[in-house]
Amino acid sequence: MAGSEAAWQAAQLGVPVVIHEMRPKVETFAHRTGNLAEMVCSNSFRSDDSEQNAVGLLHWEMRAAGGLIMDMATKHRLPAGGALAVDRDPFAESVTAALKAHPLVTVSYEEITALPDNGHWIIATGPLTSGALAQAVQEETGADALAFFDAIAPIVYFDSIDMNVAWMQSRYDKGETEEERTAYLNCPMTKDQYEAFIDALLAAEKAEFKEGETAGYFDGCLPIEVMAERGRETLRFGPMKPVGLTNAHDPANKPYAVVQLRRDNALGTLFNIVGFQTKMKYGAQAHVLRMIPGLHVAKFARLGGIHRNTFLNSPTLLDEQMRLKSKPHIRFAGQITGVEGYVESAAMGLLAGRMAAAEIKGETLPEVPRTSAMGALVHHITGGAEAKTFQPMNVNFGLFPPLDGVRGGRRGRKDRYKGYTDRAKEDWQTWLAPQSSLAAE
Ligand SMILES: Cc1cc2nc3c(=O)[nH]c(=O)nc-3n(C[C@H](O)[C@H](O)[C@H](O)COP(=O)(O)OP(=O)(O)OC[C@H]3O[C@@H](n4cnc5c(N)ncnc54)[C@H](O)[C@@H]3O)c2cc1C
Repeated sequence: MAGSEAAWQAAQLGVPVVIHEMRPKVETFAHRTGNLAEMVCSNSFRSDDSEQNAVGLLHWEMRAAGGLIMDMATKHRLPAGGALAVDRDPFAESVTAALKAHPLVTVSYEEITALPDNGHWIIATGPLTSGALAQAVQEETGADALAFFDAIAPIVYFDSIDMNVAWMQSRYDKGETEEERTAYLNCPMTKDQYEAFIDALLAAEKAEFKEGETAGYFDGCLPIEVMAERGRETLRFGPMKPVGLTNAHDPANKPYAVVQLRRDNALGTLFNIVGFQTKMKYGAQAHVLRMIPGLHVAKFARLGGIHRNTFLNSPTLLDEQMRLKSKPHIRFAGQITGVEGYVESAAMGLLAGRMAAAEIKGETLPEVPRTSAMGALVHHITGGAEAKTFQPMNVNFGLFPPLDGVRGGRRGRKDRYKGYTDRAKEDWQTWLAPQSSLAAE
């Protein structure tokens, strides 16, 4: 996804590109063909609504930038209501054909096993980056900077949390500053609520690991349901322990268990549920999580999961131009940068392709507007996200700088989202416009 889009964008700006693709010579457990831009699982690009949905806005921005992935997805769309479902094989075949037909693109079928010493490179090898290259990246960046699994705890929009039930406090009030002493958001449970929660967790439908996916699966990120299977009290002695906390709304009553959430972005609009990685299926997951007091009407920016996924700690490793700080002739793009999903991956390819082409032509593109979906996402991965707890992210409105003068909460949502998307479209076009001259140079 990302590599195809990056190559297309750079070539359209007049820069010759070689795509190095290891398939079909070297396979992954998820891909089936040798096509570029193969959709490995679902055939959906999710919502196509560019007024009320952040991923739909990303579609719009990619179309405005002449994106190949969106163009071919639209040509091969299948009926799916408001979603953009895609006829996967003709889609991938047409992306491959368009790239091969481009006079400035060459496709070379081989595995890249080391970090190149010179030239201009974009590494967009995805969640299933081959072992040799992953090792080379790890040697360059350090063992802790490259993950092989994501263990995603669900992320909640702050404005959907009931603060009449929840309160802010760090365990044992630890911290030098008031901000640190109140860094966590706490949701209290009585014994009955805890027992009902454990029952629902054990009964919930879970997703299975795919074959080949579990190698290296480790104890440090056990799903909450696996902890609950080990014993009904395990969670109460783990991520739900109630010690060192006093319920600000009811100081006399000690909670039986506490679910903690931690700020997930600098804006403070998103909070992740600490230690709550899970393989519960999405429908069941939302139902079970809404049993947590304070989260009964929670809106999720993303639900939890555990997957095989190779990704960088981008907030510490990449600059705002998506370059590896230690080797700036190498950019990264796609899921390996810590975005999640076909559309987000292709979007980061689009940016990396444009940035690399501009650089080769002796220019530096200005910062991508943070008010656009592209800018919100690239800013999140290259600096806005918490580096210590960095996990892959879907595009969502929680990543956007707040709008002045719009109503908060559920009631104001429609106007607020329209406000975000109107602002994004205008700023994105303003960013794109001067780049048309690059192609002519
Ligand atoms: C099992 C699985 C299921 C997924 N399901 C979905 C889903 O349903 N919906 C969704 O939106 N997202 C899904 N994703 C997440 C993700 O968005 C997609 O994997 C997406 O394709 C990522 O785009 P990308 O361009 O970063 O990587 P990819 O599309 O995987 O492209 C990377 C390319 O690099 C090649 N490559 C890897 N290593 C090397 C090397 N050393 N040398 C040369 N070539 C190399 C690979 O063969 C591949 O063609 C899934 C991921 C996985 C692993």
